[in-house]
Amino acid sequence: MRDKDLIIGVLGIQGDIEENVSQTETAFHSLGKKGEVRVVRHSKDISGLSGLILPGGESTVVSNLATVNGDLFHKIADAVSRGMPVLGTCAGMIILSTRAYDRVIGQTKQKLLSLLNIVVERNAFGRQKDSFEADMEIPLMGKRPFKGIFIRAPIVSKAEAGVQVIAKIEDKVVAVKQDNIVATAFHPELGSDNRFHVHLIKSASDFRDRTNIMRGVGFEPTNP
Ligand code: GLN
Repeated sequence: MRDKDLIIGVLGIQGDIEENVSQTETAFHSLGKKGEVRVVRHSKDISGLSGLILPGGESTVVSNLATVNGDLFHKIADAVSRGMPVLGTCAGMIILSTRAYDRVIGQTKQKLLSLLNIVVERNAFGRQKDSFEADMEIPLMGKRPFKGIFIRAPIVSKAEAGVQVIAKIEDKVVAVKQDNIVATAFHPELGSDNRFHVHLIKSASDFRDRTNIMRGVGFEPTNP
């Protein structure tokens, strides 16, 4: 299959940018696909993407800088609303949500994409020193447990209609899926398990094929 036009973007404002680039490259390799990974810093970088990653980091910094970067947020929201697959990890999950609060400071005023119908509680497991790893059953990713790395992680305190819970720790929701959006409170870009990135690439490849068909491109001429 042709994959030169299969491009996965990694929002390159702040946080685990390099880690996501290299996890996506590893995932392309394990799928035997030759796609491209593009660091996205300006709204013009969104065009031509088939999938996007919003990395973990500090969601308030990402919100502020995205505002300074003009219509970058708008372009992302538009592409995701048109069905482009997106993976948001930790701060990325917060940015995708409709409402975010912190138990200590209350409702945060940060700019959110409001694409994923969840309410998140930021820093719900405590501070940096309370970071931990946990093995979780995530059937969407296959039978083998997934080791999640949690760093100042949020939890999903409310999942509205249309949101599927895909992972929990005890009674706490830590990963969700809503149509083309997958979001995790942990960091699949850290560690050696690339199944979330593989899942994103497969979804992005389907999305690319669908949009090419709609645009009437992407067919190789067949020999008579
Ligand atoms: N606590 C951070 C925030 O609220 C998220 C932490 C992370 O992405 N590791 O943005």
